[in-house]
Amino acid sequence: DVAHGRILYLEDVHVAFDGFKAINGLHLDIAPGELRCIIGPNGAGKTTMMDIITGKTRPDRGTVFFGSTIDLLRHNEPEIAGLGIGRKFQKPTVFEQLSVFENLELALKTHKGVKHSMFFRLDSAQKDRLAEVLHTIHLAAEVTRQAGQLSHGQKQWLEIGMLLMQDPKLLLLDEPVAGMTDEETARTAELFLALKGRHSLMVVEHDMSFIRTISEKVTVLCDGAVLAEGTLDQVQADERVIEVYLGR
Ligand code: ADP
Repeated sequence: DVAHGRILYLEDVHVAFDGFKAINGLHLDIAPGELRCIIGPNGAGKTTMMDIITGKTRPDRGTVFFGSTIDLLRHNEPEIAGLGIGRKFQKPTVFEQLSVFENLELALKTHKGVKHSMFFRLDSAQKDRLAEVLHTIHLAAEVTRQAGQLSHGQKQWLEIGMLLMQDPKLLLLDEPVAGMTDEETARTAELFLALKGRHSLMVVEHDMSFIRTISEKVTVLCDGAVLAEGTLDQVQADERVIEVYLGR
């Protein structure tokens, strides 16, 4: 029971691409309900790490557990999504021609594997959940708007809402506030703080002031391994971290 008390547990994970060690002895654990920020210079291995967790890339060796019992290396990408790991890439991918409501409804249908969606009706628990998600993602007033007409930030929130309709235990988010206005960034921080506790989150971000508002613990990746871990203040004061950010 190596991963006891953790939602995600990586131990001594290695991946090489054509001999280049993209992930090189990575250890990481995330507690249930935690919001963890991941930072690190370009090429540190952040994307590859997320690819390993979601089953897109298979490590050469190491341990990857979801909760204390699920060995993720025994599952493929769609199975891992079904286990409750949701991933959001940097660019929003909402259905522009559909309304906010229809996007959320479609996410739920997809999750439930509904084939004949003409006959699909939300039950009352699902309606309640959809209303709750709309509120969380700050789009309750935009429910009938076409997604294509939303601002960049609102599209990002809608995509997070689509993931939430599938009730993920763990959410992986890649640079969620890139391209957002300051106000959208502040409201995204609110959104994340509302998700923390009910969900576990792993957020790859470069925006340090955003990280400061949302996260207690930050992991710094470099050369495919953890260079430092602690509060943002602690890692920013770490000589090795300063060297990596300034000295390259
Ligand atoms: P980050 O997301 O932190 O910028 P990545 O995980 O994208 O870092 O990349 C880590 C390193 O692995 C980089 O040097 C990148 O060029 C290399 N890499 C990533 N994916 C592949 C691949 N499929 N084939 C070859 N090299 C790759």
